[in-house]
Amino acid sequence: MNKEQIEKLGRLLLDKNQPTAIVVHANPDGDAIGSALGLYHFLHQEGFAGVQMVSPNAYPSFLHWMPGNDHVIVADVAPGEAMAVISNAGLLFCLDFNGFGRADQLEQVLSDSKAHKVMIDHHPQPEDGFHLVFSDTRASSTAELVYECIAALKGGDAITLDMAKCLYAGIVTDTGSFSYGCNNPRTYEIVARLIEKGVDGAYLHRLIYSTYSVNRMRLLGYCLSEKLEVIETHRTAYISLTKKDLERFNHREGDTEGVVNYALDIEGINLAALFIEKDGHIKVSFRSAGELDVNRLAREYYHGGGHKNAAGGKSYHNMKKTLAGFHTLVKKGF
Ligand code: 5GP
Ligand code: MN
Repeated sequence: MNKEQIEKLGRLLLDKNQPTAIVVHANPDGDAIGSALGLYHFLHQEGFAGVQMVSPNAYPSFLHWMPGNDHVIVADVAPGEAMAVISNAGLLFCLDFNGFGRADQLEQVLSDSKAHKVMIDHHPQPEDGFHLVFSDTRASSTAELVYECIAALKGGDAITLDMAKCLYAGIVTDTGSFSYGCNNPRTYEIVARLIEKGVDGAYLHRLIYSTYSVNRMRLLGYCLSEKLEVIETHRTAYISLTKKDLERFNHREGDTEGVVNYALDIEGINLAALFIEKDGHIKVSFRSAGELDVNRLAREYYHGGGHKNAAGGKSYHNMKKTLAGFHTLVKKGF
């Protein structure tokens, strides 16, 4: 952590009475919620009684166990409250995203806000508009960066068990349980410190990964047996799901989380994609192995972005046209 930046953050945290908001990206994942709640508990402990956390929309139930979850304001559910929290904030933290557009309907209120804006994030190409930016693509997760900020400000002893659980969840989910984005020894040092705080890794792993409903498990089976398409010549595998497919399995928020990773688990495949029909667009998820850059693919062709090996975006064509376009891109090497 850069000393000057930490000192600047320390100065921003001097006024504990200022209204403070923590915001995450739309469709938040384990790292977004875990890093944000980790920071939320820290700020509470520091005396920020008025700190609030806002998510643009609802998130999967396998993240609801995190301490502090009941205090998260979901903008889709309570738009007035979410907007007021952001526009009244004197201090605003944006976690796990690198540009206001990633917060969907909160984009305008975030960019209009007069608050001191702090970004903590590990995606490439951070955008302008922030007073203080902690951005490091080498970090496994935003949760890791939140740990580093707290440790640099107050020392590791300031981390409580509640913070540790949330930060651990962020690291575990963003590394696919320590299977990618985690070749840095520092990640394991931080995890060791979190375990020392009393985190039960095996138990949290079950809370996150072993809570499938029967419908979700059957949907996964259907994806793999009926919907998986392989373009062997181009080492690509993809799955597409229509609204009808999702209705058949009584789809719930988060049920398709992780499905795309299975396509990448096929030997020889280095590009995996998942296309999901939503209202007015197709949500696209990409995963890749090695040097293949799906962040570029998502940015250039799907109004999106992400990391080199995990990215997402949207297509505004119908499913048939979207898949045809994808085939064309794959065959010409993007
Ligand atoms: P997922 O495929 O799991 O939704 O997202 C994978 C990665 O891509 C995450 O790091 C996420 O932040 C990023 N991502 C997903 N959708 C979008 C999008 O619409 N825009 C941008 N910029 N990034 C996205
Ligand atoms: Mn992340």
